[in-house]
Formats: sequence, C-alpha cells, structure tokens
Amino acid sequence: MPGWLSRPRDQHPTNDSLSHSTLKKRHIGNMLVVMKRQAPQPQVDAVIERIEQLGLKAHPMPGATRTAIGITGNTAAIDPSVLAGMPGVLELLRVTKPYKLASREMHIDDTVVRLPQSQFGPHTFTVIAGPCSVENESMMRQTAAFLRDLGVRLLRGGAFKPRTSPYSFQGHGEEGLRILKAVGREFGMGIVTEVMDASQVADVESAADMLQIGARNMQNFTLLKAVSQSSKPVLLKRGIAATLEEWLMAAEYLLAGGNDQVVLCERGVRTFADHSRNTLDLSIVPPVKQHSHLPVIVDPSHGTGNRAFVPAMSLAALAAGADGIMVEVHPEPDRALSDGAQSLTFSQFEQLLESLRKLAAVMDRQLV
Ligand code: PEP
Ligand code: MN
Repeated sequence: MPGWLSRPRDQHPTNDSLSHSTLKKRHIGNMLVVMKRQAPQPQVDAVIERIEQLGLKAHPMPGATRTAIGITGNTAAIDPSVLAGMPGVLELLRVTKPYKLASREMHIDDTVVRLPQSQFGPHTFTVIAGPCSVENESMMRQTAAFLRDLGVRLLRGGAFKPRTSPYSFQGHGEEGLRILKAVGREFGMGIVTEVMDASQVADVESAADMLQIGARNMQNFTLLKAVSQSSKPVLLKRGIAATLEEWLMAAEYLLAGGNDQVVLCERGVRTFADHSRNTLDLSIVPPVKQHSHLPVIVDPSHGTGNRAFVPAMSLAALAAGADGIMVEVHPEPDRALSDGAQSLTFSQFEQLLESLRKLAAVMDRQLV
C-alpha cells in the first residue's frame, strides 16, 4: 500500500522504534495515528474521543484503504501509550513539519478545492481572469461577457485595493462588491476578490465565491483567523518576502481554524532585479507540491508587472506543474485605474488561452 507519508516507508518511526520517553520529548502533538486497514468506525471514533479527552484536537482523514488521524495541540506532557495501545491502531507517526494540516505528511493525496463554477486540483489547469480593480459596472460586464464566451469560469476584480500610495485609486469598496455580485450572477461566473481586513469578511463573503488574501496580508493573523471561519474557499497569495515555510504556516492558520479549501498563489517576490516588478518564483511550485497537498496557482501579472511577459510566464507556470493562473485582463489596459501596464488586452488573452490549451493537452491537464 502506498505510505501515508511522503517519505519512504522504512524512514518512518513506528510504535516499536520510538520509546515512550522519546515520544514524549518529540511532542505527541506532532503526530499522526494510523489506523489498521480493517479498523471499524467505532474504533476510529474511540481514538478521536480519547484524543479530545486529552485536551488535543483530532483531525480524522479517511483514506482509500484506511483512516489516519492527525493530532494538533500543545501536548508535551501526555503519555503516548494511551493511544498506541488502543484497538485498531496500527502505529503512531511523527509529523516533522511545523505546518501539519498543510503538510503532505498528514495528507498524502492532492486536495481538490471546489467552487460552484470550477475547481482547483490535479488534472485541471484553472484560469482566473479579470481586471485589477472593479472600475465600473460596464467594464466588468464587458470583461465578463468576453471571458465567459472563451470558457473562463472565474472572474477576478478588486473592490478593496491594497495600494502602496494612499493617493492611488483605493477601489470602490462596497459598491465594487455590489457590481461583482451582479455581474457574477448575470454571467454565471465565480467571483474571486480580495478581503483586506477582518471587518470586511462578511460583506466580501456575500459577493464572492472565493476570498483572496493579498500578498501584503499573508501574515495578517487576525485576518487569517477570521477567514478560517468562512465557508468560502480562499486564495492565499505568497507574501513579497515569504519563505515556503512562512507561506505554508499562513495556510495552516486557515486549515487549523476549519477552512480546508485553500489554494496557494505565487505572485512574485522582492529581489534585486529591476527588469520586472517582482521576481516570479516559479521554482517554488515543485517544492510546494512536494511539501503540501494544497493546490498552487501562479499570478504572472503581478509577478512581472509587464503585459509583454505575461504569456511566457503563464505557459511556464503550467509547465512547472502549477494548478492554474490568475491573470489581469482589461478592455482598455491603457486607461485602467490600476495595473494597466501588466493587464492583457482581450486579443492577447485570447491568444494566450489558445497556447495554454495546446500545452495543457501535452501536460495531461484540462483547461477549466
Ligand atoms: C491583486 O491580485 O489584486 C493584488 C493586489 O495582488 P498582490 O496581493 O499579489 O499584490
Ligand atoms: Mn493588480
């Protein structure tokens, strides 16, 4: 049977190989309980109940052949033998990563994040497109009509905009949300839009099908906790100087709070380079896939800052194994209120989609 963890089987410490005191020192909180293949549900339930009696949180993960139960919590002081000896328990494994629920050690299969209109995961390549900001209803309707005719199902557009300058266009806020909701309904498209503050979650949630957390807010822990309570999927952008571990720890906040519908988005990081707005770090895609089960998409628009470079980096994202892209498109990029220089024209976007379709076929992914 394929292992429950991503490491080779013989590297896993088992019940037998870990003494009591070693387990205690290593914190049982970083553990996974692997149930036996035939373990009936009442045995699984009993283990969950025992974990909870110990004041810890149990995260049951039913698999194709058996169930595993992740344990999180601050648990240095408990005796692991109370779990190891329970009926139906095969072994206790140590989870070595500080992010647990986001880790592949806890969840070997790729997660599929589903929206009413689309999905993110293996076998598909998901396209989110639309302008940087919601400028007015007419340009949103024009963009939605164009994209929908090409088969794009997810429409982006910011109502609340995080801008470096307080003098730049800040977005239309609640009026922007109203427009997004109306246009999403009219064209049957899913809406992806940013929530900048915990106080906005309820309003953004009522207009959006997916809540975006922007790069600047990746470590806004109050916002992460608030969004973790939402029933809507989340698009979590990588911070401009975030390591892979910091990014996955931010995802962990969402998962630990109960929202397991998380898609990661690489959007470029700050480097010494001055040939592009940011340095699009496609090299993070394979490590994300190795260390996490969450889908990861790429934003080549903010990653490059220049529409001339967006098509090449979109194709490169697909080739690198990303699960999709989010790309800025505008009916008249040169008149855009924000990020016009990196926004594709309609005809450029149409051409890009055609190229993506060809490459997706080679990569065994379906463009959605
Ligand atoms: C955006 O996608 O609208 C945006 C502001 O991106 P980022 O947070 O990556 O800068
Ligand atoms: Mn933008």
